[in-house]
Amino acid sequence: MNQLTSPHVGYETQALALKKRLAKVHRIITAGGLWPITKGHVSCRVPGSGHVLILGHIHSEGRSLANTDVDDIVTVDIEGNFIEGRIEAVDERYAHIEVYKARPDFHAVVHAHPTMATAFGIAGVNILPVGNRGAIFAPMVPILEFDKQIDTPERGRMVRDAMGEGCAVVLKNHGVVVASDSIENVCISLFALEETAQLHWYAAQLGKVERISSGEVKSVMTGHRYEEFFAHVWGHYEAMDPWIRK
Ligand SMILES: [Zn+2]
Repeated sequence: MNQLTSPHVGYETQALALKKRLAKVHRIITAGGLWPITKGHVSCRVPGSGHVLILGHIHSEGRSLANTDVDDIVTVDIEGNFIEGRIEAVDERYAHIEVYKARPDFHAVVHAHPTMATAFGIAGVNILPVGNRGAIFAPMVPILEFDKQIDTPERGRMVRDAMGEGCAVVLKNHGVVVASDSIENVCISLFALEETAQLHWYAAQLGKVERISSGEVKSVMTGHRYEEFFAHVWGHYEAMDPWIRK
């Protein structure tokens, strides 16, 4: 993906380009139905700045994330303090920033409430990598036994700890947090998580649920297959952007 890391690109130019990409994935995730009543948020780092771009508290304006644009994205520092924007950042920004502090490999985080993945948390059943689209979640998706808003640093650290070495966690009776190395990849990972939860559920109706082999996980997670995992499907999700036809 076209991560913007060039030192020749000015901060403002870089931040605006990242805001456009962030706004787009908010619209795509809305179109995909992964946040009922369009509540959720995506963030990213601004490379080299210590800043994080995240959705502003536009929920309080009663708007749909189907209309997310660049001025709906605001800037906070790595402690969650407001830096810039027309409205305050979302209260649950700590679910993002505590993950960034612990995981330098992650450059984007999403919090959403996809129905099937969240149901697994309610039932206390870990989502397993039952197909190769679930390989990134191997060996299983942990569940954080905590159902309140992630609106303090301490609660953010609970999410971070529950995620551990993985890239996703289900928050019991609430939703999910997923992290990845770019804005587009975190969007794809969120869809892959919900699809994996659906596949796990369907399989459970028919019989024994078996995860993919560790050899297949290793194959997907290394070399060109890992690149392809994301690159080959982005066009599919990007086409869901309702603004693409504007
Ligand atoms: Zn939430």
